[in-house]
Amino acid sequence: MNTAQSWDLVVVGGGYAGLVAASRAAQLGRRALVLEKGKETLYSCNSRVAGGVLHISYQNLNDTPAALAQAVREITAESADRALTEVLTQNSLRAVQWLESEGAKIDRSSKVNWRQFMLAPTRPPATGLQWEGFGSDMTLRLLEANLTKRGGVLQRDSKVTSLVMEGGRCVGVEYERAGRKESVRAAAVMLADGGFHANRELVGKYISPAANSIKQRCTLTGVGDGLRMAQSVGAATVGLEAFYGHLLAREAMTNDVLWPYPQIDELASGGILVDGEGRRFADEGHGGVYLANAVARLKDPLSATAVFDARIWEGPGRAAAIPANPRLQQEGGTLHQGATIAELAGKIGVPAATLEATIAEFNAAVAAGRAASLPVPRAAKRYPPTAITQAPFYGIPICCGITFTMGGLAIDTTGRVLGSDRQPIPGLFAAGSTTGGLDGGPNCGYVGGLIKGIVFGMLIAEHLAGAKAA
Ligand SMILES: Cc1cc2nc3c(=O)[nH]c(=O)nc-3n(C[C@H](O)[C@H](O)[C@H](O)COP(=O)(O)OP(=O)(O)OC[C@H]3O[C@@H](n4cnc5c(N)ncnc54)[C@H](O)[C@@H]3O)c2cc1C
Repeated sequence: MNTAQSWDLVVVGGGYAGLVAASRAAQLGRRALVLEKGKETLYSCNSRVAGGVLHISYQNLNDTPAALAQAVREITAESADRALTEVLTQNSLRAVQWLESEGAKIDRSSKVNWRQFMLAPTRPPATGLQWEGFGSDMTLRLLEANLTKRGGVLQRDSKVTSLVMEGGRCVGVEYERAGRKESVRAAAVMLADGGFHANRELVGKYISPAANSIKQRCTLTGVGDGLRMAQSVGAATVGLEAFYGHLLAREAMTNDVLWPYPQIDELASGGILVDGEGRRFADEGHGGVYLANAVARLKDPLSATAVFDARIWEGPGRAAAIPANPRLQQEGGTLHQGATIAELAGKIGVPAATLEATIAEFNAAVAAGRAASLPVPRAAKRYPPTAITQAPFYGIPICCGITFTMGGLAIDTTGRVLGSDRQPIPGLFAAGSTTGGLDGGPNCGYVGGLIKGIVFGMLIAEHLAGAKAA
């Protein structure tokens, strides 16, 4: 290995997790190098295209750490690692304040409580993937500029291929640059490659047997390199079976204007979701992220339809920031309509008698207040169930979109990667969507995308620099 160049910290991946860690480390006097496989100035990554809402489990970051931790426990049905939850919730506001001190602009004007911290300028409420010049992209550019000013380096066209280990310690990485193999030494290596959502083989292995029938509602950069490299040196993993994602119109599989928005979540949670036979198969009351996971686990994820009535179409259908009503049809998505359930069944291609029975059973249970006792239970807390009675009746053929994988490498509270013996692997750290332990659980609870990478990236840098964290 070329030992001429040695760094305090080498980071794999230049998304929020990686750039926050590198820039904070450089601010604290450490020499930091980010190796990024993207070649373009504005290389693609989930961080750059994100909507920019900084939140924890749909809560306002101004809430107390105890309240935030309670929200995490609830949404993950107590499955989130307690210690990780504690450091995330105790450091999230400080991390955002640090971002602001770096020059990031935060828009606090939203009337929606959990959207009070948005990277500015905020994205317009448009369908399709619009990102250039908006908050997530601009803040990423800012982090790179600050890193560079502090003597750190973000090196593009550098795809890390393996970890270099000496006596059980990670001492550097090997990478490919312009067709050549190179290597670099470091006191610490941090994996921040973004997860494995864009690797169909791994999605097929851990999440869905029908990975090709899942829409990649994301950039295609997270292919599981960090997971593979760390596993090869004995790293433990957690919760690989769940993902963060949403329900989309089925045409989003081929029509780029129909993803990442509009989502069909509100309509499926307002009404019901049926399979190709016209039967309910998942608890709509847990919301769109859970439903997207349930659809992915179907034998045929392209067989499900959201079914609802006129009241839901005019209510929840218009409620989202980028609502399906009226955007879905404007952008080429299908909305089936029937004066009766039987007519709708014919249009969506399910047996009329089965769909009628499904809705009759659902409506009766809702009217009797016993939806939780249905054969496929219907929870009432987040999205109270309502009967589907008001014609016309509607159906939207849907697909599920994967945004990022919830599970990943097991880490401790300073971001150290844990081995199968739960002991840290010396010299090896990880943060962001390549890590697990927070999001997930039986209801696929969402804890955080951006905020998770920002907080743990910051904490890793502070740990390496010996700085005192909160
Ligand atoms: C459309 C969309 C909207 C979103 N909106 C929000 C939102 O509003 N709020 C929120 O909290 N989250 C949101 N998210 C999720 C959020 O973007 C991610 O959770 C977060 O950005 C992950 O950051 P990261 O640094 O871990 O990974 P990434 O941003 O994915 O960065 C990883 C980087 O590693 C690089 N890389 C991968 N492999 C290698 C390798 N072998 N060698 C070198 N480099 C490598 C990649 O090229 C990439 O640049 C959204 C995501 C999408 C797609």
